[in-house]
Amino acid sequence: MHNIEHKPIVLIVDDIPTNLKILGTALKNDYHVKVTTTGEEALLIATSKNPPSIILLDIMMPEMDGYEICRRLKEAPETRDIPVIFITAMNEEKDEELGLTLGAIDYITKPFSIPIVKARIKNHLELKRYRDILKENCMIDGLTQIANRRRFDEASEVEWNRQKRHNEPLSMLMIDIDFFKNYNDTYGHLQGDECLKQVAQTIKKQLKRPADLAARWGGEEFACILPETDSIAASHIAEDIRKAIMDVALPHEDSLVESVVTVSVGVATAKPLDDTDFQALLKKADDALYKAKQNGRNKVVHIEQIE
Ligand code: GH3
Ligand code: MG
Ligand code: MG
Repeated sequence: MHNIEHKPIVLIVDDIPTNLKILGTALKNDYHVKVTTTGEEALLIATSKNPPSIILLDIMMPEMDGYEICRRLKEAPETRDIPVIFITAMNEEKDEELGLTLGAIDYITKPFSIPIVKARIKNHLELKRYRDILKENCMIDGLTQIANRRRFDEASEVEWNRQKRHNEPLSMLMIDIDFFKNYNDTYGHLQGDECLKQVAQTIKKQLKRPADLAARWGGEEFACILPETDSIAASHIAEDIRKAIMDVALPHEDSLVESVVTVSVGVATAKPLDDTDFQALLKKADDALYKAKQNGRNKVVHIEQIE
């Protein structure tokens, strides 16, 4: 018996409960099976924190049909990469063409053979695993091995949409190493690179929740995205990061603020009812960082403290 957590999640969407039962029974030994009879619920499950690895979609359904569900899944960045297989009684060429054009990875007509459905699901999941690995690799900063800017942009879009939907606060940290130009001048560029790695890994280690993300923003600057985090919690995390970097105690004899490497941190929080966009939140975090630098560096400033 496998642990449920390690089985891929298969979501089956069909308005007829008997169909769900047949497929669900066939798949439940190999997968964690979720089922729903409505498109609306299918979209909720797909955008939840535990999204399915693959979705089996019926086409003919009373409220929202399978084509529409597929269209919406492929539109949204957070669900775009989930493979969709249509399983349907609509067996005309133009139906299949439409399904595939909408972005489905496969199209299976009823009546279907259980072993073939199983084999196709297995193959598609295997391909998805490789795609995920490739994607993961091009989303990592080569030097520091934490997320790069591309990953940050993608995650922020996803998290921003999620927070808006769920009406929760979301916080951002902008982190910049203090007097890093001096550091390079004193210790050399290679040692500078080492310093960047250490700082990056230290920041990453301070983030505890799975949805938190630390990324290299560029140069000696880092950005963190903290979903479901209010301004007080975000300020604490920022302060923990500032302290943790000091505790690493990388010597920096040419810093004008300490004898070790330090960072300044700008914090900004978007509250649930704020009418704002992500760029505005970024700008606020950046303004707060600027203030932290002005206040003497090795400091945390939350934008609320200066507004
Ligand atoms: P401040 O306290 O105001 O942030 O001053 P600073 O010297 O840290 O800031 P500044 O923007 O003047 O200098 C940043 C330096 O970071 C200059 C640049 O050479 C260095 N840097 C940027 N990317 C890298 C990198 O990948 N490796 C190394 N070694 N240095 C880098
Ligand atoms: Mg700097
Ligand atoms: Mg800088």
